[in-house]
Amino acid sequence: MSDCLFCKIIAGEIPSDKVYEDDLCLAFNDIDPKAPTHFLVIPKAHISSVSAISAENSAVVAHIFEVIANLTREQGLESYRVVSNIGEQAGQSVFHLHFHVLSGRDMTWPPG
Ligand code: AMP
Ligand code: ZN
Repeated sequence: MSDCLFCKIIAGEIPSDKVYEDDLCLAFNDIDPKAPTHFLVIPKAHISSVSAISAENSAVVAHIFEVIANLTREQGLESYRVVSNIGEQAGQSVFHLHFHVLSGRDMTWPPG
């Protein structure tokens, strides 16, 4: 999508602090980190949020979770949180599917 921030990052039109990339997804550090480790993993295909996942596009989600498991293992992260906000009330500000990976500090439950 031409007006999507994360599609522009995937296209290289906006720089990012890349953590990992393959044919299906990109991981990069969050520009406004909420924990000592805070990166985002996004599909290269534009999907607006979890609510737009379907039988046709869901395979990339399994792939992203495999990537998250590999990256956190490589980084030696034994405890971390994976979060996806869906809709404005839940705090979604970028409408391209992304999974936050947060680690390195104590976390509260339930989230605020
Ligand atoms: P959400 O608010 O759940 O939609 O998450 C969007 C995330 O994208 C926020 O944590 C932002 O800090 C992050 N973000 C926004 N712009 C950029 C950018 N140019 N590079 C990296 N992260 C970004
Ligand atoms: Zn997009």
